[in-house]
Amino acid sequence: MPIRVLPEVVAAQIAAGEVVERPASVVKELIENALDAGATSITVEADHGGIRLIRISDDGHGIPAAEAELAFARHATSKLNVVEDLNHIRTLGFRGEALASIAAVSRTTMITRHRDETAGVEVQIEGGAARTVRPVGAPVGTVVTVENLFFNTPARLKFLKSESTERKHITDLVTRYAMAYPAVRFRLSQEGRAQFQSTGSGDLADVLVEVLGLDTFREMLEVSSQAPSRPDLPPIEVYGFSSALSLNRATRGHIVLFVNGRVISDQTLTYAVVQAYRDLLPQGRYPLAILLITLPPEDVDVNVHPTKAEVRFRVPDAVFAAVQRAVRAAVANQSASPSGHRDSYVTGGWDAPISGADSSYTLPQGRRPVVPGEDQLRLELGTFDPGHSPSSAPGVSAIPAGPGQPARPRTLPILRVVGQVGAMYLIAEGPAGVYLIDQHAAHARVIYEQLRDQQVAGEPVETLPVQGITVDFPVLAAQALETALDALAGLGFEIEPFGGSTFRVRAIPVLLADEEPGAALSELIQEVQSDEETPLGERLIRRVSQAAAYKAGQVLSFDAMQSLIQQLERCESPRVDPYDHPTMIHISGEDLARQFGRRQEPRS
Ligand code: ADP
Ligand code: MG
Repeated sequence: MPIRVLPEVVAAQIAAGEVVERPASVVKELIENALDAGATSITVEADHGGIRLIRISDDGHGIPAAEAELAFARHATSKLNVVEDLNHIRTLGFRGEALASIAAVSRTTMITRHRDETAGVEVQIEGGAARTVRPVGAPVGTVVTVENLFFNTPARLKFLKSESTERKHITDLVTRYAMAYPAVRFRLSQEGRAQFQSTGSGDLADVLVEVLGLDTFREMLEVSSQAPSRPDLPPIEVYGFSSALSLNRATRGHIVLFVNGRVISDQTLTYAVVQAYRDLLPQGRYPLAILLITLPPEDVDVNVHPTKAEVRFRVPDAVFAAVQRAVRAAVANQSASPSGHRDSYVTGGWDAPISGADSSYTLPQGRRPVVPGEDQLRLELGTFDPGHSPSSAPGVSAIPAGPGQPARPRTLPILRVVGQVGAMYLIAEGPAGVYLIDQHAAHARVIYEQLRDQQVAGEPVETLPVQGITVDFPVLAAQALETALDALAGLGFEIEPFGGSTFRVRAIPVLLADEEPGAALSELIQEVQSDEETPLGERLIRRVSQAAAYKAGQVLSFDAMQSLIQQLERCESPRVDPYDHPTMIHISGEDLARQFGRRQEPRS
C-alpha cells in the first residue's frame, strides 16, 4: 500500500483507543468535564455496564451554542492556549481529546446551554461524523449521552469484560470522584436503579459513610498533614482517612490517592502509605486509605499519560515524606490511645466473649491469635503438642454416627466430657490424657465439615424462612452482594434485590437462626469484597461456620457438650478450626505425671 494520511475518522478511532479503554473511561472523561465546568451536581446513569448507554448531566456553566460542535473536534479545548499553560494547569482536562475520542466510537448526543445564553443546542455525532446541530430548550448545564459504545470497533468490544465487571468499574470510579469532590453532589444509577448518592456537604467523612458504610468508616482514622520537615519544600497538603489496624486487606488495591483532584496510580506513594504501617500489620496485609493530596500545580506534571492516571512530581521525595508522615501520625495516635486501639490478635478471654467482629478476622496463614490463658497453660504444663498426639492415629475405626447418617471414620479417641470452664472451654478425658477443647473453634470445625460435605454432595442447606426483612447496604457492599447471590443461595440465603442498595431477605440458613440477618450478611459481604486467594465458596463456608458456632461465653448443657465432642471425634481434621487455629490442647498422662512430680505408674 502506498503511504497516505489516514482519513480523519480512522485517525480519531485509533486515537480513541488511548483515551477510551472501557465504559468507565467515558464516565471518567465526562465527569472531569463536568467538574471543570464548575458543576455542583453531577448525575451518572449507565445501562448494560455502560455499553448500551452512559448519560452524564451536570449543572456547570455549559458551552456557548456557537462552540458546541467545535468541542468535538480533536485538540479542541477551552482550557489551554499556549504550551506554558501546562505548567500551572488547574483543570482536569486540557488535551481536548475526550469528546472527539468518545464520539468516534459511539453515538454521542450533547445537549448544552451556556449560562449567558437563553437557549440550548443539541449536537449529535455518530462514529465521529457530525450529524445534526439544532437549537433546543434546555436548563443551564450539559447532558452528554453516549450510546452503543464501540459499535464500530468490534475488537475493543470483544475485549470488554462482563457487564457486571464494567458496572463495578463505573461504581468504583464515581465513588472515587465523589470522595475527591465532597462538595459536589454525585448521583449514580445503573440499569435504572439508584445506586449511590453523595450529599455534596463538602465533608469527606459524609461521602465515606455512604461509600464504605458506617461500620467500616468507624474503623478509619482521620489523616491530616504534618508540618513539613524542611521549610524550603513545596507546601504539600494531605487530608483523608486511613484504616485503623483492625481493618486491613490482602492487597494494596484499597489505597486510593488523589493529587490535585485527580485519581492517580502511583506505586511509590502507595508504598508511602504501606510504609506508615510498617511492623504494625501482619505480613501480606494492607491498609485502606483515601488521601487527597494537594500541591501547587507547578510542582506536578500531569501530562505524562493519555488518561492522566499517572503524574510526575518536581520533588517526589517531599511528596513521599508528606504522605508517609501524615499517615504515620494518624496510626501512631491510634496505637497510643487505648480506646482507639483495637488489636485483632487478642480475642476472647475469661470475661471477654469473642465478639462477632473479632472472631471474623481472617488471620493470614501461619499466624494464630494469642488466646489469654493458653500461654499460661503452656507455662504451667510444660510441653504439649496439639498437632501430634500418639492417640490420634491408632484406633481409627468406623462406627455409624447415628441413624440415617453415613459412617465416618473416627479421627479422635472416644472422649468423655468432664465439664465446661470459663464458659469457653470444654474439658474431656480420653485414654491418653486430658483434652482442653475450645468450644467455639471445635464447633466451627464441625459445622464447617458438615457444610462442606453438603456442598460437595449437592445437598440443600436447611433454610429458615424469615418474613419481610429488608436490609440496606453501602453501595460497594451492595454491588458485591449482588455478584454473590448465587453462592449465598447455595448456603441457604434467599435474597433478592429490592431497588437501589436494598435487598429483601426471604430465608437464611437455619444455622444462623440466632444471628441478625443484616449483620450476618455484612460479614459475608466482606468476604466477597476481600481479595484473598482462597476460592469464595470456601471462604463463605468458613465464615458461616464461624458465625454459627457456639460463642465464647455461651454456657452449654451437658448434652450439647457431649454431642459436640461426638461430632468432633469424626471430623476429618478435628484438631484445627476452619482457619487452621487449634481446637484443642492435649495434655498426656505423662505430662501430667511429670508436672506433678509423680513417677509413672507401670501400665498393664
Ligand atoms: P478537554 O476537557 O481536555 O478540554 P474535551 O474533549 O473533554 O477536552 O472537551 C472539549 C471542550 O468542551 C472543553 O475544553 C470544554 O470547553 C467543553 N466541554 C466539554 N464538556 C463540557 C461540560 N460538561 N460543560 C462545559 N463545557 C464542556
Ligand atoms: Mg475533558
